[in-house]
Amino acid sequence: MTTFRKEALERALTRAVTFNHDAKEKISDYFGCNVFGKKAMKQYLSEEAYHSIMESINKGTKIEYKLADQIATAMKTWALSKGATHYTHWFQPLTGATAEKHDAFITPLDDFPIEKFEGSQLIQQEPDASSFPSGGIRATFEARGYSAWDPTSPAFIIGDTLCIPSIFISYTGDALDYKTPLLRASAVLDKAAVDVCQYFDKNVTKVYATLGWEQEYFIVDEALFNTRPDLMSTGRTLFGHDASKGQQLEDHYFGSIPERVIAFMKEFEFEAWKLGIPVKTRHNEVAPNQFELAPVFEEANLSNDHNQLVMDIMGKIAKRHHLRVLFHEKPFAGINGSGKHNNWSLATDTGKNLLSPGKTPKTNLQFLTFFINSIKAVHDHADLLRASIANAGNDHRLGANEAPPAIISVFIGTHLTAILEEIIKKVKKGKLSPDEKTNLKLNIGKIPSIIIDNTDRNRTSPFAFTGSKFEFRAVGSSMNCAAAIIALNAIMANQLTEFKKDVDTLIEGGLDKDDAVFNILRNYILCSKNILFEGNGYSDEWIREAAKRGLSNIKTTPPALNAYISEKSKKVFKKMGVMTEREVVARYHIKLENYYKKIQIEARVLGDIAINHIIPTAIKYQNLLIENVNGIRKIFGDDYKKIAATQIESVREISSHISAIKNKVHYMIEARKKANIIEDTYEHAVQYCEKVKPYLDEIRFHVDTLELMIDDELWPLPKYRELLSI
Ligand code: ADP
Ligand code: MG
Repeated sequence: MTTFRKEALERALTRAVTFNHDAKEKISDYFGCNVFGKKAMKQYLSEEAYHSIMESINKGTKIEYKLADQIATAMKTWALSKGATHYTHWFQPLTGATAEKHDAFITPLDDFPIEKFEGSQLIQQEPDASSFPSGGIRATFEARGYSAWDPTSPAFIIGDTLCIPSIFISYTGDALDYKTPLLRASAVLDKAAVDVCQYFDKNVTKVYATLGWEQEYFIVDEALFNTRPDLMSTGRTLFGHDASKGQQLEDHYFGSIPERVIAFMKEFEFEAWKLGIPVKTRHNEVAPNQFELAPVFEEANLSNDHNQLVMDIMGKIAKRHHLRVLFHEKPFAGINGSGKHNNWSLATDTGKNLLSPGKTPKTNLQFLTFFINSIKAVHDHADLLRASIANAGNDHRLGANEAPPAIISVFIGTHLTAILEEIIKKVKKGKLSPDEKTNLKLNIGKIPSIIIDNTDRNRTSPFAFTGSKFEFRAVGSSMNCAAAIIALNAIMANQLTEFKKDVDTLIEGGLDKDDAVFNILRNYILCSKNILFEGNGYSDEWIREAAKRGLSNIKTTPPALNAYISEKSKKVFKKMGVMTEREVVARYHIKLENYYKKIQIEARVLGDIAINHIIPTAIKYQNLLIENVNGIRKIFGDDYKKIAATQIESVREISSHISAIKNKVHYMIEARKKANIIEDTYEHAVQYCEKVKPYLDEIRFHVDTLELMIDDELWPLPKYRELLSI
């Protein structure tokens, strides 16, 4: 075997399991100990400053400048007590990763240094941000971008650094990150939802979106990872024949977790808990070496920060265990990819989940209101939701018969379907008789018991109601959840605002409140019915049926992204104050660029592997065959053609694959050259999608065929069975 692959395998197979962390304490003893959360704030802040932060979290009020100094000093004192030496604004630029630039607390004063951290440093920083993507908003020479403290997400310590969750905006105030529009969308959703709650419950003064993500990922050994240039540069394998044992037996799913992985999980869970991240569930996923992690849900902005943090921590801890985490949506062909289900709901400051049926007819009318408005919002803006989950990785997953289809539909289960039918049938235009109303309300009152009994589940739906929340399943594993949640919160805020207007109009026209609500809900059900689908989302019938219903089925990223800049989307974002047209268009460009750059890198890497690793190996093996044929000829003379027929045929076949690879790599490079000179970002991305990407699969086919033909001893790079089983 080539020494490269052999050494990697040996190293991977002989690793010792190291349990770096085996805490004896209870989780509750150290949970959140590295967070400047409520407990630390109570201890380090004056009443006034504490109150001011709480007001800011709960009501979005501004923190007075004079208090900022006090808060900064308290944060510094707390951080120093924990051994921190540096601080940083921690933000989420549109690269998809998190960003930080550390500064030491130290300031020289006269002759000696002191630790200093002032309000102004807490509130705002100016990182040298010229190389973060801005989609044209901020020309590189005008490099100023500002990060500004987000007091709603608590500061935390990682290593020796105090991290301050922040937004990231341009000099002109345009959002250059995920957090800014997420906070804006949450604020407008709060207002719209509170207004609607007033119909049912006057005590509600705040509504916030909740998010519970489920993070899927793969694990591979570091030595094997480092011998695969494709994994290293693109996060996915660009070639590799199916392992003979893949996931057919489904014996990995919920099976016992391997020791080495448990050691890794234990350590990152420990780190996560110290950071106040409520990670809760861990298990094997369907594919070999695939796993999942889920926390308890939290307010969406905080939960998303926690997801970003967890991904970061997992990567770091994995290295300590000589492992690598793959967050790519489709690291291996032929087995399941990875998603990140976003469980989404709305909660009130009175402790109620608005998407959870209540115990009385009144609370259930409130439930139905939010439930039906969610469906209407998804119906009206399905394309925007599709756009929010578009990236190069997810294109391999959506609609690939293992993940939710690219068609957005909503699953609600048979019982809620029946309730909606009943509303359509029984609600009349205008006034209901007292009897009719009592009857309807009684039926609605039965919802909770129905749902508790109801084990209705549909794994094939991209957007499913699962009892007390919607589960947006089409989100990709590598993504920042904010893209999806910004879209959801914005369209829901818009929808609830419309709903209030519609209901108020009927009330002004003389209907009582319940009649008005029932009437509008009935209308909404009727006009959004065609987004509801209870069947198998993976089936061909659904693709045909969805087309008949006029639902879109956008398979690839560039056209999917167009929904961001449709008049309808721009209008909603603008009206709700979530993003200006300039911000939306910039985001669209960044996503397109990100898309074609990913494919460009994949094409380069595959071209390199094919020419520099695969073809030389094929030739080596071919030479062995030729030597063998020559030997046979020496022994058998003219009979050799018959005796060595298989070898001769193999020599021919290998040559044909070699020349196919060479040609296709050449044409792929030509296609790239052509695409690269296109100025228009959209056309540029489309060229990569339609003209470059197909070569990846075509070249792969020849490489994978050679893998099956060539002596295993000669094959230079780890195979699927090795990557997936060690
Ligand atoms: P299931 O098994 O039905 O998917 P779980 O209770 O295991 O449900 O929850 C799965 C995910 O859904 C978890 O991440 C959890 O935090 C999240 N979740 C549960 N309730 C809510 C809610 N009200 N809002 C947001 N996420 C939620
Ligand atoms: Mg789930």
